[in-house]
Amino acid sequence: MLIVMKFGGTSVGSVDALKNVVKIVSDARQNGHEIVVVVSAMSGVTNLLLNAAAQAEVGHEEIAHQAKTEIAHKHAEATLHFLDHTPERDAVLAEINTLLDEFEALCHGICVLGELTPRALDVIGGLGERMNAPQVAAILNRAGLPAASIEATQLIVTDNCFGSAIPLIDETEANTQARLRPLLDAGKIPVVTGFIGSTEDGIPTTLGRGGSDYSATILGRALGADEVWIWTDVNGVMTADPRVVPEAHPISHLSYAEISELSYFGAKVLHSQAIRPARRVNMPVRILNTFAPDHPGTLITADYKNNGKTVKAVTAIKNMSLVTVSGPGMIGITGVAGRTFTAVARTSTNVLMISQASSEQSICFVIPTSDVPKVVASLEAELIREIERRDLEQIKWEEDTVILAVVGAGMKGQPGVSGRLFGALGQEKINIIAIAQGSSEFNISLVVAQGEADLAVKAIHREFKLEKP
Ligand code: ADP
Ligand code: ASP
Ligand code: MG
Repeated sequence: MLIVMKFGGTSVGSVDALKNVVKIVSDARQNGHEIVVVVSAMSGVTNLLLNAAAQAEVGHEEIAHQAKTEIAHKHAEATLHFLDHTPERDAVLAEINTLLDEFEALCHGICVLGELTPRALDVIGGLGERMNAPQVAAILNRAGLPAASIEATQLIVTDNCFGSAIPLIDETEANTQARLRPLLDAGKIPVVTGFIGSTEDGIPTTLGRGGSDYSATILGRALGADEVWIWTDVNGVMTADPRVVPEAHPISHLSYAEISELSYFGAKVLHSQAIRPARRVNMPVRILNTFAPDHPGTLITADYKNNGKTVKAVTAIKNMSLVTVSGPGMIGITGVAGRTFTAVARTSTNVLMISQASSEQSICFVIPTSDVPKVVASLEAELIREIERRDLEQIKWEEDTVILAVVGAGMKGQPGVSGRLFGALGQEKINIIAIAQGSSEFNISLVVAQGEADLAVKAIHREFKLEKP
């Protein structure tokens, strides 16, 4: 089989983790598989880079220097362990140092200008993956596994939506086939930087936080891979975020439709767009644990498998705001909803949930809190006449909310699910601010106050007995 294996931040973040990576790749080769490796930055590195860039913008250039020292130390520890006294170690460290110097120079520029553009942020954010791919390739080579480091800027072509770029499929496929096929045919293991791509003009982009998952499925699709394996630090996709619900346990199988809902609504274990390339070509994806490689993890395919549960998992997506457009003038007037969402679309904001009461007196929708100022400004500009005439009220919004998503294809056609859901939240005295159910019936979404999110997730988990395997 041809398998694209992605290793996340913690999976490449320490000497012990990297030992497991070597073993996993080596075992797969011994089993006769062709392997493409996709790597994230070492754990914590992307945060250090992005935080330093943000601090430089407000005049704190020294944070970049501290970050540089910390990142250099992390890499030095790994290279010292795996590559001590080898010329490869010097070569890898030289490459890392060049990138770290570039990072410091960029932060200096940002500090002088007092401006951090999305484009500059993508150049800086992607440095962690660019430092790590040569390191992982050298470690594999040292272990007798012939590997070659490749920057995904040469493979993944994207639009210029910096910060969450979208891949251009045909161009990406042509580049990937041209660059990776010959390496695979020569028996090599390409080690590709996750998270990054570049525009048609060669300007670096990133695929959004957690984007290395997406890189893996994009490359898997481009190569016609048999499977994509996402190696992370938990035993697969779990019934809830294990940091919130300690009794959460891994789900052995999910359909593309189910994982789409879960990852879209905040299950951090997979990037929200990552399943799309796989779903297009019906390519199975597995979520596996680098620290427990024998655990079967979660298999994701097209078909739905009934595991005897109506609800399979519950997620929460935080830092959301509920925006409301309301007023007596909405009743029966056509076009207000259309104009509202056109005004939102002009700001390129992602609307995660929409709900309208049947009285037609109000329409509300949920967006990331960081997008509220531009969305409200755009709505006020669009609806100014109606607001002045008092047909509509001033636009209102409620910050500090979360969307909870209750997901499972078994909910389809099952009466009583909503009743149990609302009953469980009612018992905990949790107020439900808004509700939506997609026509797929795979997902019921609820908005609650952020402070009550964890309690709500726990209550739902208990109500649907998700702690029982
Ligand atoms: P990686 O660095 O390997 O990409 P991430 O931190 O991005 O790892 O994603 C894995 C983490 O996602 C887990 O450690 C877990 O804390 C979190 N997580 C949140 N929700 C879920 C869920 N439903 N199932 C599994 N993990 C989840
Ligand atoms: N390193 C990037 C991030 O932290 C991408 C990834 O880990 O998938 O967001
Ligand atoms: Mg991740």
